[in-house]
Amino acid sequence: MQSKYLCLGIVLLLLGCGEERNDWQKSSVVPVKPGSTVQIRVAQAVNPRLPRMSPGQIQIMLASAQLTVLKNFGVYVEFTEAPEIGIDQLFALIPPSVKEARLESIYDFKSGSGDKQKLAAGILTTLTERGTKLKDALAFAAPYLPTGANPQDLKALSDLLANTMLERLEQWRHVNAPDGTPVLDASPYNEWVYWDTLGYGKLPYDVVITNQFVASAEYYGVDIHSAIRGGVTVGTTSYSRTGKYGSYVFWSTFPFSDNSEASISMRGNDQYSAADAAELSGAYLAHEIGHLLLQLGHPFGQKACVMNPVSMLKFRQWFFQVYGAGCLLGSRPEMKPGAIPPVYNAEWVRMTQEQ
Ligand SMILES: [Zn+2]
Repeated sequence: MQSKYLCLGIVLLLLGCGEERNDWQKSSVVPVKPGSTVQIRVAQAVNPRLPRMSPGQIQIMLASAQLTVLKNFGVYVEFTEAPEIGIDQLFALIPPSVKEARLESIYDFKSGSGDKQKLAAGILTTLTERGTKLKDALAFAAPYLPTGANPQDLKALSDLLANTMLERLEQWRHVNAPDGTPVLDASPYNEWVYWDTLGYGKLPYDVVITNQFVASAEYYGVDIHSAIRGGVTVGTTSYSRTGKYGSYVFWSTFPFSDNSEASISMRGNDQYSAADAAELSGAYLAHEIGHLLLQLGHPFGQKACVMNPVSMLKFRQWFFQVYGAGCLLGSRPEMKPGAIPPVYNAEWVRMTQEQ
């Protein structure tokens, strides 16, 4: 889960959204116990326009995720066969009423009708609600902000982040698919909000792997990580109404397999072989599985922890720093199973039951 972006859609929703707070409730699903063996239902949602990982890569990826989960969380995961589903079929599972209710959260960067001030105000709300200190935020973000930027307060930082986010999101619009047309086209599949809404339908999967590029802007819940990447999401763990773990994971392979200048630059000028892309993607998928099964949080800056989010798209750097013995379960508040239970909007659940 990036709040958005890396993950915790549920945190994002809890902290960032403008809906009535009393509609938000915590799931009573309890975390899986270390030492157990669990099944995870996997599907591959394919956008035929975009590059995808080969069956061999998907196999490496799932093996890498399985090993990383076992080594770091002591849980043995059995993945089911991963059937393919068209991304259009997947999006058809989103309940129309909830989709409608969430439309207002999307900053429409494609039509140019987005409200930048509202975006900056949303970022400021998120930073303030999360108790962000300017000094800490700058320590993290300064290397990725425009040269010479020196915001004096959170408001100025939020304005800067909104600008940076939109400029970089614009860069992503120039990345083309193999057919020569932009990866970010008129379709809604890049919008994080919809992925975060899928679980309100009857979603029969716990992990959805997709070759779709998810890059977007929202008026609520955007944090520093997402802003400096230009709104790119690698994966998120979001509420799932019918899932036995109370949430589901979507996982985009695009940031691992894309070799556009923008992606390579955000990886710190790193280009991955097919096997490395698959292995790194699987290892980082274990981060989402930590949210999914154990309801773990984010020990920011604790580099030994799988649950520490990747900086920009530097997956290899993250991978070499992870060291399970240096970040045991329960060793920090964020690493306690159940730290962040799934959260859902009861009103939206009610709406789906009326349909
Ligand atoms: Zn996360």
